Amino acid sequence: MNLSDEQLDRYARHIVLRDIGGAGQKKILGAHILIVGAGGIGCPAIQYLAAAGIGALTIFDDDIVSLSNLQRQVLFTENDVGSAKVDVAKVAAQRINPDIEVNPINQRLTAQHLKEDSAAFFAPFDAIIDGSDNYQTRLLVSDISLRHHIPLVSAAIGQFQGQLGTFRGWEEDKPCYRCFVGDALDPDDCDNCSEVGVLGAMVGLMGSFAAMEAIRVITGFGQDPAGKLLLFDGLAPAMRSINLPKDPHCKSCGTPVQT
Ligand SMILES: [Zn+2]
Repeated sequence: MNLSDEQLDRYARHIVLRDIGGAGQKKILGAHILIVGAGGIGCPAIQYLAAAGIGALTIFDDDIVSLSNLQRQVLFTENDVGSAKVDVAKVAAQRINPDIEVNPINQRLTAQHLKEDSAAFFAPFDAIIDGSDNYQTRLLVSDISLRHHIPLVSAAIGQFQGQLGTFRGWEEDKPCYRCFVGDALDPDDCDNCSEVGVLGAMVGLMGSFAAMEAIRVITGFGQDPAGKLLLFDGLAPAMRSINLPKDPHCKSCGTPVQT
């Protein structure tokens, strides 16, 4: 694939970056990313991936736009209230970049999508961005990533705290998302932003960060972030990273205990 004159112009600021270049931009143009959740994290992720020229986006979300979303979900306007988020997100993404393919799926991702015959469905994806708002979905996305060997960029936020990690738990020395959160979670006892509140610009930061990490997965620029967790404290403000070891007894990616 050769870049057209228009593409050379449109993506010039990527192409001039030594760590991306024309070769990296071609990888971006050929990539397919699965986005789970078109909310506070999903919106800016979609925005920057569309602008970057990502080949295709498949977006899962079963929600409709409500007035209280507009404080942080920047793809939506007042005119969109009552419409399916995935449909509005598709129009908005293609307004930014008409060349990208967007596949909206107006459903919640459920265990049904991880059936034995799911391999063909998940095969095209180069990365998953999880911007969902509940642990049930997050754990399911982790299992999809692990089973189908798709790098997972997981971004989450609560109030003024953000966290972000890239997971490739099928590798011998890299943790999966379950290594990080453990088994102690009760899905009915989880915070989400409708209960705890969230600063709109904070989700913009973490969603943009997720887009950057997905592009890192595709092009391989810089250092490998897998095995680390980035924590952003919006109150301080400060960012730090902690090492995230693989749990050898992790139920998902560890060695099964012999009995
Ligand atoms: Zn694990």
